Amino acid sequence: MKFATRLIHGSHAVDPATGALSLPVYQTSTFAQKSVDRFGKYDYARSGNPTREALEEAIADLEGGSQAFAFGSGMAAISSTLMLFAPGDHLVVCEDVYGGAFRVLTKLFGQWGLSVTFVDATRLEAMEAAIRPETKAIYLETPSNPLLKITDIRGAAAIARSHGLLTLVDNTFMTPYLQRPLELGCDIVMHSGTKFLNGHSDVVCGFAVAKDEQLAHRLGFIQNAFGAILGPQDCWLTLRGLKTLKVRMEESQRSALKVAAFLDGCPKVKRVYYPGLSTHPGNAVHSGQADGPGAVLSFELESFELTKRLLEGVELAAFAVSLGGVESILSYPARMSHAAMSPADRAERGISDTLVRLSIGLEDPDDLISDLARVIA
Ligand SMILES: *Cc1c(COP(=O)(O)O)cnc(C)c1O
Repeated sequence: MKFATRLIHGSHAVDPATGALSLPVYQTSTFAQKSVDRFGKYDYARSGNPTREALEEAIADLEGGSQAFAFGSGMAAISSTLMLFAPGDHLVVCEDVYGGAFRVLTKLFGQWGLSVTFVDATRLEAMEAAIRPETKAIYLETPSNPLLKITDIRGAAAIARSHGLLTLVDNTFMTPYLQRPLELGCDIVMHSGTKFLNGHSDVVCGFAVAKDEQLAHRLGFIQNAFGAILGPQDCWLTLRGLKTLKVRMEESQRSALKVAAFLDGCPKVKRVYYPGLSTHPGNAVHSGQADGPGAVLSFELESFELTKRLLEGVELAAFAVSLGGVESILSYPARMSHAAMSPADRAERGISDTLVRLSIGLEDPDDLISDLARVIA
C-alpha cells in the first residue's frame, strides 16, 4: 500500500474490540487481570495502552521502523532516546540543532557525563573528524532549524556505520511523508509530533522510532522505566491529525513554494532559506533524499525595525512558538526556539536578530502573500 492509503487503512484503522472506525480513547490507568499466572497483553497503562499502541504502530509503519514509542513531548522523546547512552559517551551533533535539544544536551546530559561536539553537518569531513574513541552516535536534523541546512543523510549514516556508531535523526520538519531516514541507513528517528504529525496546534507529543528490534527493545525499556509517555486523549487526537498528513503536507508545501518565491523577490528580504529554492546550497542533496522541500522557511530582513514590524504586524500568521499547524506560524528564533542558546552561540550559528521563521499552514497562499507584502514589500 502507498503512503496515503496506509495513513487511512493502517493496522490501527479499526478498533479490534468493537469495529469502531475511530479507535476509542482507552482512558484508563490499569487493566483487570484474569489469572495470577499469566497477565494479559495490557497490565498498567504506563507500560501499554491500546490507544497509544495504535498510534505507535501507525508511526512505526510510516517511518519504516520495527517499533515506535510515543512520549509526552518531542523533548521527552529526545531525552528518553539520549538515555541509550551512558556517562563517558560522546555524541557528534549538528550545530544548528533544535534549541531545546541543545539545552538538554549541554545543561542536563552534560552534567550527567555525556559529552557533545557540535559540527557543521553540511560538511561530512567535519563530522568524521569530530569522532573520538568514546563517540557512540551522530545526531542530525535535516533540514535544520532555523537555517534549513541540509545534511547528506546517506553519507552521514555510512560514516557512522564505518565507525560503529548509531545515527539519530530528528525528522520533525519533514515527517515520514517527505523523508524516511531509516530507509537511508539511520537507526533512530525522533519527532516532535506537536508539529506536522498532529498538525492542529492542539497537542504536545513526541516519538522515537527504532529501525531494528534490539534497539526498539532498549527504547521500549526506557519508555517504561523513565515513564515520559503520551496520555490516551493526546494519542487519539494525534491519530486523528495523522490521517490528513499527506493532504496537509502537500497543500502547505505548495503554498510554501509560492511564498518563498515571493520573499526571494522582495528587496527588503536579504536572504531566504528554503531547500525548495534552486539557489539553496543543499537543494541537490535534499532532492536526493526527500520527496519535497516541506513547509517551513526562514528569511533574513534588512533591519531589526522591519523584523519587529513584521512579527507584530502580520495578521494571517500567528506570531508564536511552534510550527507545522494548519495555521501559519511566524516565529522569532533568537527569542523563541533558540533563546536557550547564548548570543555568542547563536551568532556562531548564523541565527541573527533579523531572522524570522515561517511555517506555512492551510490558508490560501495569495492571502498570505498579500499580508506579508503589506508589511515588507
Ligand atoms: C518543537 C521541536 C522539538 C521539541 O518538541 P516538543 O514537542 O516541543 O517538546 C524538537 N525538534 C524540533 C525540530 C522541533 O521543531
